Amino acid sequence: MNIKERQGSDIRVRFCPSPTGNPHVGMIRTALFNWAFARHVGGTFVFRIEDTDAARDSQESYQALLDALSWLGLDWDEGPVVGGDYGPYRQSERGDIYARVMSQLTEAGYTYPCYCSAEELDARREIAMKEKRTPGYDGQCRSLSQDQIDAYEADGRSAVIRFRMPGTDFTWNDLVRGEVTFKAEHVPDFVLVRANGDPLYTLVNPVDDALMKITHVLRGEDLLSSTPRQLALFAALEEIGVASYTPLYGHLPYVMGEGNKKLSKRDPGSALSMYREEGYLPQALLNYLALLGWSMGNDVEFFSPQEMAAAFTLERVNPNPARFDLKKCTAINGDWIRHIAQQELTGHLIPFLEGAGVVTAPPTQEQLKTLNLAVPLIQERLDKLSTAPELISFLFKDVVAIDPALWSDGALDVLMESASVLEGLEPWNHDSIQNLLKATLVDGLGIKPKFAFGPIRTAITGHKISPPLFESMEILGKEICLGRLSAAIESLK
Ligand code: GLU
Ligand code: ZN
Repeated sequence: MNIKERQGSDIRVRFCPSPTGNPHVGMIRTALFNWAFARHVGGTFVFRIEDTDAARDSQESYQALLDALSWLGLDWDEGPVVGGDYGPYRQSERGDIYARVMSQLTEAGYTYPCYCSAEELDARREIAMKEKRTPGYDGQCRSLSQDQIDAYEADGRSAVIRFRMPGTDFTWNDLVRGEVTFKAEHVPDFVLVRANGDPLYTLVNPVDDALMKITHVLRGEDLLSSTPRQLALFAALEEIGVASYTPLYGHLPYVMGEGNKKLSKRDPGSALSMYREEGYLPQALLNYLALLGWSMGNDVEFFSPQEMAAAFTLERVNPNPARFDLKKCTAINGDWIRHIAQQELTGHLIPFLEGAGVVTAPPTQEQLKTLNLAVPLIQERLDKLSTAPELISFLFKDVVAIDPALWSDGALDVLMESASVLEGLEPWNHDSIQNLLKATLVDGLGIKPKFAFGPIRTAITGHKISPPLFESMEILGKEICLGRLSAAIESLK
């Protein structure tokens, strides 16, 4: 079947990160677009781990990738944990497959050993630059005689294995960028296997795409220049019967960070772990990452991953660089916090409150009761879950510590007056508290609301800024409020 006619369940895409370092948002953007495309067409989302670089790959990073996709709800159809028909899905477990394909390629004449040392390559590259020729491998070892090979071997040299490029230009119709061409001289013969026998990305990535029957390769623009090499290798793999077709390629736009440079580790917000630690909702982060190169149309900027998948087409992927904006991401997180049900938000908040020691782990019935009353007070004003403990901790303790610098002039009088009228208040609810304090302090004594309620807020919450004061006082109850007022009065006398 023609690759372009493939649709629906015939479509297979992959997310294939290398487990080095911490997952970053650029990677997750790639995963999201592949996932959304697969879900939109009813295809298969393959998760493959490209861990052939033993020096850089780590088990922690592998685990972090799995955790990241699971946390984000980007479920994969084939890959680690879930398995599938084309496994194993970790390249470190596929060594014999690569060795077999390599010998087939060599058999068919597509490869040759190259004995050039790094110094020799450098020296020739410099000459080429001086002579204004395109630098890059010059094909010196393309047709070594057996005698030359023997001589190199006798000399103790070991060879890398290079792919023999066909010497033609490469043009493909990129799914995002339209027609892209690379001139033959810019894609010289490249290394497939290191001198120590380790297969390289240049080999294993297309080999696995072939064997895993990938139909669409969607990945970052940084990989654009590896595409002509992979197209050449695919032609060879088709020739030797390893591939039955060449996938279509699409390159997602760069994500730009500070200083209009490619988003890097140094940019705040580039590490995925930060979002989890600071309390971004997974759907909010995905919502924001979707906007880095894709749009839903009609200026719709708030949508769930499922809504994105339902609407996702490659036509709406924009080839222009996308600007990363952590503030916008945080604002979208706030929108999501307001959007979800109170019960759901409470569930998200509990680990943060436990972590900050505001509630026990697990929370007591009493704490849960308070929490259910407190969450509606902060849902409107929260943009990250991690700010909640600081905002509502005063509702969970017996006494609050108060920084003396917070008291305004006249605080003592206001507090004494308030304590004396509140003493007799029945019933105790936010309306009755507010009415009484307003009538007494503002209407009765002519104190400006700011100076009337500011000291009370400080005495009750320990802060100048807090969730709504009278609602908070209702939740705390009369006894605790009167206790805090008299403690504050004592400290001011
Ligand atoms: N392992 C490669 C990387 O993380 C995958 C590139 C690709 O999608 O082809 O950059
Ligand atoms: Zn060479």
